[in-house]
Amino acid sequence: MSGLQRKSFSNILILVLSTTVFLALWAHTANATLDLLRVGWDKPTIYYLIKAGKGVSPQAVSDVVTAVADWGALPQGAPILEPAVPGAKSADIVIHLKVGGGRVLGMALAQTTSKFSCVLKSVSIQLSGKAFGNSFSSPGTRNVTRHEIGHALGLGHSDDPQDLMYAQADSEEVFGPFDVYPSACDINGIDAIYPLVKCDDIPRNILCP
Ligand SMILES: [Zn+2]
Repeated sequence: MSGLQRKSFSNILILVLSTTVFLALWAHTANATLDLLRVGWDKPTIYYLIKAGKGVSPQAVSDVVTAVADWGALPQGAPILEPAVPGAKSADIVIHLKVGGGRVLGMALAQTTSKFSCVLKSVSIQLSGKAFGNSFSSPGTRNVTRHEIGHALGLGHSDDPQDLMYAQADSEEVFGPFDVYPSACDINGIDAIYPLVKCDDIPRNILCP
């Protein structure tokens, strides 16, 4: 865990997607808001590497590849996501896939180049194949991957329960048959971050259309 050794001088952001049940007790009237992490990449191409643990199915790996590619149609200026060259040991974004249970569906851990910088140096994503003992559906694996890649690009959470970047996934999103894709709001968030010129130019949040 070399990442932990660097804790002392790098910003570390940890974001967790959990299956906690959310009850909306108020009518949804105002525009939704998407928070931005105020970090981003300053290079045009970001390489990702999938590290699949024991027992992870080829289908799950294929779902992750598909989900990463769904971020491909990003606004001009955003980084392009490319698979790492065959045999690479590391990459800008490393996606760890494991067959495991527990409450956590996915987690993104980001490190910046220094404590004072917003420029991302690396992101480590952990994806579990199960939560509460149920295996993710294929769309579920893709949905959790898309959410965590959103974080890896600098997006925070949306307060719209329908949005990919909402903090808590409902069970349909994880175990059900439906794909949830980056929304117009998520794409606007990417547009607000990139191209990354000055850290202070990234807003704390944006209003969704
Ligand atoms: Zn999240």
